Amino acid sequence: MRVQMRRLEQQEVLGQLAASIAHEVRNPMTVVKGFMQLLERDVEQEKSRQYVQLMVQELNRAEGIIEDYLAFARPHIESRTEVQVPERTGQVLKAMESYASVRGVRLAQGASGCGLVIQGDPNRFSQVLINVIKNGIEAMPDGGVLTVHVYREKSDVCVEVTDTGVGMTRAEVERLGSPFYSTKEKGTGLGMMLAYRIIAAMNGRITVESEKGKGTQVTVRLPVSRGE
Ligand code: ADP
Ligand code: MG
Repeated sequence: MRVQMRRLEQQEVLGQLAASIAHEVRNPMTVVKGFMQLLERDVEQEKSRQYVQLMVQELNRAEGIIEDYLAFARPHIESRTEVQVPERTGQVLKAMESYASVRGVRLAQGASGCGLVIQGDPNRFSQVLINVIKNGIEAMPDGGVLTVHVYREKSDVCVEVTDTGVGMTRAEVERLGSPFYSTKEKGTGLGMMLAYRIIAAMNGRITVESEKGKGTQVTVRLPVSRGE
């Protein structure tokens, strides 16, 4: 019993640490990146310019890890409350607006019914949606539309994210969620792993349908709250 308590406390401390690191490290990184980009313009030697570009790329990668893994980390690693799914989804879409528009992607939200409430950790739920929506946007390098539908199916609340991007083969879909599996130059390969873990911990599941060259539909399903 005592050992178990200590382990829980340790997890809590780790969660707090992760959250502080995410928030505190971000600011100096942004400053460094800003100066790097200024430097890149002034550097005359081609070789040195390449070094600076590499440095910016690596900083982007570090930023990506924070975004995928820690952006919504909060001191209390897990809380369980009612989450209003359509409202949360709307907030996330708003937060993703600029990420989408610089990539030529329009975000569309389909109609939502009422009573679409789940039990879970709101911040972690948002992190999952961010990761799935980010992938959808990144799958459309030439722009397009990303549609998000929230609906009820039997005893599940579903959030369906559809893109018309590059799509995946069956083998690629099967690899989704393996740690560090990424086909992107600056990918972390952590986004879907985290999404699967969080949703499983909330007693839900994620289903993926995809066709190479056509697009992908990722559906996050969570049991509807019975108003406990
Ligand atoms: P990352 O985005 O950092 O690469 P993820 O775990 O979020 O890591 O995704 C893993 C891989 O799964 C991606 O690199 C990509 O190949 C594939 N993937 C995920 N979502 C999509 C999508 N909507 N369309 C096409 N491929 C996708
Ligand atoms: Mg991703």
